[in-house]
Amino acid sequence: MQCVSPLPLSLIPHRSLFIGEVAMVNCPSCSKPMAPGFLGSESFIGGSKWFLERTRLAMGGEEVGKPDTWGMVYIPGHRCRECKMLVLQY
Ligand SMILES: [Zn+2]
Repeated sequence: MQCVSPLPLSLIPHRSLFIGEVAMVNCPSCSKPMAPGFLGSESFIGGSKWFLERTRLAMGGEEVGKPDTWGMVYIPGHRCRECKMLVLQY
């Protein structure tokens, strides 16, 4: 299976995280190899947060990623395209 990045490598700001690492993660659902990448989201205020449940106006939650200068949050992780499963590291 080919590893396809959603962005050209030149546009991924933290690709150095993977240089020299053997980033092999198997899907917790189907056990096939997962492809490395980043979950990107726009968040000018407060970064990306993790919630135990949905809240009104996204109040509360625990910050898991700070926005960069351009208001983007990139959380490194792995994806299984078949199961639509994400495994993130923050
Ligand atoms: Zn899978």
